[in-house]
Amino acid sequence: MTRVTLVTGGMGGLGEAICMKMADMGYEVATTHSPGNTKSAAWLAEMKDKGYHFRAYPCDVSDYDSAQECISIITKEMGPVDVLVNNAGITRDMTFKKMDKTNWDAVIKTNLDSVFNMTKPVCDGMTERGWGRIINISSINGQKGAFGQTNYSAAKAGMHGFSKALALEVARKGVTVNTISPGYIGTKMVMAIAQEVLDTKIIPQIPMGRLGKPEEVAGLVAYLASDEAAFLTGANIAINGGQHMQ
Ligand code: NDP
Repeated sequence: MTRVTLVTGGMGGLGEAICMKMADMGYEVATTHSPGNTKSAAWLAEMKDKGYHFRAYPCDVSDYDSAQECISIITKEMGPVDVLVNNAGITRDMTFKKMDKTNWDAVIKTNLDSVFNMTKPVCDGMTERGWGRIINISSINGQKGAFGQTNYSAAKAGMHGFSKALALEVARKGVTVNTISPGYIGTKMVMAIAQEVLDTKIIPQIPMGRLGKPEEVAGLVAYLASDEAAFLTGANIAINGGQHMQ
């Protein structure tokens, strides 16, 4: 039977590449978008023109009830989720001096609480079926910290703690839990940074001298989702052009 992959935030830069790669690998692919996102029909049509038949579901990943409802609908319409890619995320950058509780909470809820909210309704089913993959998209800034990102760095580092603890609990049940920590990837978000800033401040920090490609991260997701990666769990895999080595 075809395995079902759910990619949260699949209409964003990285998420879209992950959806396409997983479909290329033969998975059925569902994605989520924010309930207020009005572009989902246009995105689905654009993907259909490219030969991809995705399904998209509204879900506020930061809200527990919304996540439970979304997974329940996906399970009814597509079957149980075999691969969960927790990719949805936001930034609200400001120095700690200026950081207020609203911007702290928004980033922790969307990047970290979401991992609990989305994993909770799929994990038991994976262990019962004896196969599953949970892949959390973190960030280089969760590994090394970043100026103006106490909220984001805390949330992204927390994702890896979650992965390691859950990996231990489900290791004997055929379910792996891993984190990917990308560096700067050339998504629309990063390409919106002024070229001068990219050329003088960001790219010089990357030993490979270039931004990563969304497809490179998607390829790593596909590997972690595969049967070949069955012995790989609890890892935090850096994909950053050599910018930060642990
Ligand atoms: P985008 O901003 O392009 O995509 C983020 C996605 O998250 C959007 O599709 C958005 O959906 C979704 N999202 C945000 N908030 C919510 C919410 N409350 N509920 C549901 N969906 C939500 O970012 P990227 O593709 O660049 O990043 C994807 C992931 O990779 C993020 O977790 C990011 O932190 C991480 N990352 C990115 C890097 C980069 O260089 N681009 C580097 C390191 C990590 P909608 O538009 O519908 O709101």
